[in-house]
Amino acid sequence: MELDSLYQEVILDHYRHPLHKKLSADFSAQVHHVNPSCGDEITLNVMIKNGLVENVSWEGVGCSISQASTSIAADLMIGKSLKQALTTVDSFSQLMSSKGTEAGDEEVLEDGVALAGVSKFPARIKCALLGWMAFKDAAIQSKV
Ligand code: ZN
Repeated sequence: MELDSLYQEVILDHYRHPLHKKLSADFSAQVHHVNPSCGDEITLNVMIKNGLVENVSWEGVGCSISQASTSIAADLMIGKSLKQALTTVDSFSQLMSSKGTEAGDEEVLEDGVALAGVSKFPARIKCALLGWMAFKDAAIQSKV
């Protein structure tokens, strides 16, 4: 898989120094998601209060794409309103289904645009989506 080298750096940086990778004891929902096709696995905690994403924390193992993507997603969601956060997840899902035709909106996705090239590799899309889907699942569970 070949990605733009600048983007490769961003991904490796998140992989080596993942953000919010330590489960917080305080959470409104906890989910465990796996991507069996690659062996990626994450546990993700969210703290959502009054429609605000106060915290996201996680633990996981797996390929650099899955771990970097979860780090990017967690950092991006913290401090957003739940509505904004879910719109951001949709924006990333759309980017992942673009088959390499979209670059992604950096204003919305920030470091997430570094994963745009993954959308050309169907086998890796689930790796990139793992953390985002886990967040969405946890957010929905927090609402009930
Ligand atoms: Zn993977």
